[in-house]
Amino acid sequence: MNPDVTNPAARVIMIVEDEPTIADILASYLRHTGFAPVLMTNGQEALAAIRRSPPDLVLLDVMLPGLDGTEVCRAVRTFSAVPIIMVTARVDEIDRLLGLEVGADDYVCKPFSPREVVARVQTVLRRAGRSSEIAPAPVPWLEIDDDAARITLNGQRLDLTPTEFRLLRLLASRPGRVYSRGQILDLAYLQDQDVSDRIIDSHVKNIRKKIAAILPEVEVIHSVYGIGYRYEA
Ligand code: CA
Repeated sequence: MNPDVTNPAARVIMIVEDEPTIADILASYLRHTGFAPVLMTNGQEALAAIRRSPPDLVLLDVMLPGLDGTEVCRAVRTFSAVPIIMVTARVDEIDRLLGLEVGADDYVCKPFSPREVVARVQTVLRRAGRSSEIAPAPVPWLEIDDDAARITLNGQRLDLTPTEFRLLRLLASRPGRVYSRGQILDLAYLQDQDVSDRIIDSHVKNIRKKIAAILPEVEVIHSVYGIGYRYEA
């Protein structure tokens, strides 16, 4: 299963496909694009090979003898996040392939044009490269000091108005619970003269801005469509 290329830096694309004609066409397109294709015809062997030395990406046919493509993908996902593009003839199973149950990154439908497959491979590799470069977002933690009417986010003080303090305190004291705008008005004792739903929205907007100044990647106040807001880190 050695990749048949001269360029050692070429990315290794494992093609798991039991139909030799299709596999050969894919391999030749990938080779011409500068990739190093590796052919496997059997799910079980592909799984073992991925475990031994993971390729940069797997093109995985669903219909395979023995262990089929979805089983291979599921098994790979227990130990590796290697990008997997499923190749399927059935449009109706795409949701399942991309869902948590199987865990593929993308799919191509048979019949496909090899050019389309190569483009898909490039896109998925780019996406995978980006996501591995991005550091994980920091976990937000709030500390509420009622005596000082102060809230800190990850150790940094949020410069809140008294109304914003009460609003955020209310939401954050019960993470996950949805509060309607009416409940927020009642429970956070908003004392604005022109009290309306839009007031709540503008307070939330300001709080979000202040939170984003400390943790730009993180959303802790979630809008619940048609209802109101909830806090969840
Ligand atoms: Ca097949």
